[in-house]
Amino acid sequence: MTAASTPRRIIILLGMPGVGKGTQAQFIAETYHLNHIDTGQALRAEIALVSELGKQAQSYMNQGQLVPLPVVMEVIKAAIVRTSDTQAGILFDGFPRNAEQAEQLAQIAQDLSLCIDQVLYLETPQAILMDRLAYRQTCSQCDAKYNSKLHPPKQPGLCDTCHTPLTTRPDDRPEVIENRLKAYETETAPLIAYYEAQGLLKRINANQSMETVFRDIRQGLTPLFQSAGPVGA
Ligand code: AMP
Repeated sequence: MTAASTPRRIIILLGMPGVGKGTQAQFIAETYHLNHIDTGQALRAEIALVSELGKQAQSYMNQGQLVPLPVVMEVIKAAIVRTSDTQAGILFDGFPRNAEQAEQLAQIAQDLSLCIDQVLYLETPQAILMDRLAYRQTCSQCDAKYNSKLHPPKQPGLCDTCHTPLTTRPDDRPEVIENRLKAYETETAPLIAYYEAQGLLKRINANQSMETVFRDIRQGLTPLFQSAGPVGA
């Protein structure tokens, strides 16, 4: 991606772990033709590759703590370089996650002559998130998502579509989930006020069906994209 031909939009998804950012990110990226950058996913890919970045990130992730800034920024910058200019912009999912990351993003946006268009804050009561995370299962083959309590597969432990055994993330253990929620409260939640003060925050009630959540997201995003031309729904 070059400064002269950069995608135009920056949209940020903010919210507690387990609130449904990943699901909504897929809908949003597809509907509005955005490059989707998911830092958690990108870090897990580095761990799978046993790369130097992955090795540096792993112990923090396994304990539910935020990965240090230099590691995250290296992953982010590599992901930005890989974005496609044919897309309308970038959707950040899981980044920024604290004030210093937000400052880094503001600098990147300035360097690339972009501005942050909207920060979608998915809100939900914390009480319901424990079940969503602790019972979460993913198909390692096709990435289909299940929840062994709330949305179980037909055969326990096997993907409905490709019958591959389902996996649980190492950081979805109850004690690690607690740390992740604490890290969110202390480090990430202050970004709500930060972006609200800039007039960029759009609050979305995430305690609804995923279709209804996406309908509410569309109400905010569609006018934004229409005002810029024919891109998007
Ligand atoms: P997620 O997949 O978004 O739930 O992220 C999983 C884990 O990856 C988090 O608990 C952190 O350890 C790490 N992580 C993801 N994004 C970031 C980020 N922007 N800054 C620091 N750590 C991150």
